[in-house]
Amino acid sequence: MKGVVLRRPGQKTSADFRDHQPALSCPEIYRSVELQDDHFHDQCGVFAVYGHPEAAKITQLGLYSLQHRGQESAGIAVSDGSFLAHHKGMGHANEVFSAEVLNSLPGHIAIGHTRYSTSGETDLRNAQPLTVSCQKGQVALAHNGNLVNAPAIRRELEARGDIFQTTSDTEVILHYFARSKQTGIPESLADALDRVQGAYSLVALFKESVYGVRDPRGFRPLCLGRLGDAYVLASETCAFDLINASYIRDVEPGEMMILDRRGITSLRFSPPAQPAHCVFEHVYFSRPDSLVFGRSVQASREQLGRLLAREHPAEADIVVPVPDSGVPAAIGFAEESGIPLKIGLIRNHYVGRTFIEPSQASRDLGVKLKLNPVRSLIEGRRVVLVDDSIIRGTTSRKIVRLVRDAGATEVHMRISCPPTVSPCFYGIDTPTRQELIASTHSVEAIRKYIEADTLGYLSLEGLRRAVGDHDGRYCLACYTSSYPTTIQEPLITIRHRD
Ligand code: AMP
Ligand code: SF4
Repeated sequence: MKGVVLRRPGQKTSADFRDHQPALSCPEIYRSVELQDDHFHDQCGVFAVYGHPEAAKITQLGLYSLQHRGQESAGIAVSDGSFLAHHKGMGHANEVFSAEVLNSLPGHIAIGHTRYSTSGETDLRNAQPLTVSCQKGQVALAHNGNLVNAPAIRRELEARGDIFQTTSDTEVILHYFARSKQTGIPESLADALDRVQGAYSLVALFKESVYGVRDPRGFRPLCLGRLGDAYVLASETCAFDLINASYIRDVEPGEMMILDRRGITSLRFSPPAQPAHCVFEHVYFSRPDSLVFGRSVQASREQLGRLLAREHPAEADIVVPVPDSGVPAAIGFAEESGIPLKIGLIRNHYVGRTFIEPSQASRDLGVKLKLNPVRSLIEGRRVVLVDDSIIRGTTSRKIVRLVRDAGATEVHMRISCPPTVSPCFYGIDTPTRQELIASTHSVEAIRKYIEADTLGYLSLEGLRRAVGDHDGRYCLACYTSSYPTTIQEPLITIRHRD
């Protein structure tokens, strides 16, 4: 290790810190990014509370609000000041935590996690918080993000004889924490973080404290709030609203925040790096009622829609959002264009992730289960359909057909971000590059495929303007292929060298 030095904000250090990887924008590397290893690939939400008598119950409420960030497993770990206990399960927060389970989790400190993983990795083993006992005591860790060098350092640790209990990238942090030669918790944690690269917004629970940590580039959000005498941390501020907590500030990139009986202690474990906040949080992933990276998601999305209307106007009678994520951009599009907004597609919120189709099922049953057009609004009208993104193109194609079948005379598709050409390695579940339709098709070819009359994507400049990115603070890699860190194998599987 190159000597990790913890410092309070403002305290100057330099030489002891890790050298940071320069931004990567080289086509030779990203052309070879074809297949993501499912083992290191998930979306998550994290929550923590310090100093509340019903910490587990508050955490469950927090997880409810963060459910959109991951629906496959949920977990809570608590401490009563002397002992850590936890419960994890597959499913939503309300299914995993009955009143009986919550009552069995006593304590005034807690962390929680909600997770979505790709197929093959849905087992309980990988549910978080991950909990271990080591020479530094009991620790529970919950992680949002993805460590790009986890496969390499895991191989290295396994070669030394370490045994892993999960296939999650998060576990490497615990291994380095446990084997750190440092004795204090903050120093050991900083020691571990010195080894990892990529995206991590972490909450860590110890017997008497909670830690909130954000990677030096601040890929994923993490914010601090106050609830009476207690402090809370959450991926998004919508979790604060439900429990009547007030937002204080974001955990800064490169900051380690300690919540304990002394209040809040803020340490820096890394010097500031060029920020790389995930722009997709504003485009699609976060809830519109959240503040993310200090900005209203709703306001960003409406502005995306306004700029989209300026860049790609349409001659049409109504603007119809693809619910739910297309709604704010459609509001902005309608406002800017003067074309009335109509809720012409109704979403069924009760459809789960899996559905057994009857043998005579229609080709479009999947999408019809989720969305139904309002024929009385659509019939005989020229429709602008507004959605946040086209990923594989299959949903958009079905939705366009649905709207035409409901009697639309023209369908003009408008997308509130640029074409998605590259996969994410920082904790958003996206398909491989080959499956991203925009990586292999022109806009005109996509228009033909989805069978729209016209198709318009927001420009990169429009996207940056809408989220207030005047100084390159955002990661835009899914639209530019310019990744802010190196991406190591086997996150990258070289399939094509042409
Ligand atoms: P597709 O058929 O693959 O083009 O799906 C496009 C739809 O997926 C859009 O309606 C988006 O709102 C939604 N979407 C965009 N990104 C994601 C994501 N990372 N995970 C799940 N759905 C997404
Ligand atoms: Fe966000 Fe895309 Fe960057 Fe991933 S690659 S962090 S989804 S902007």
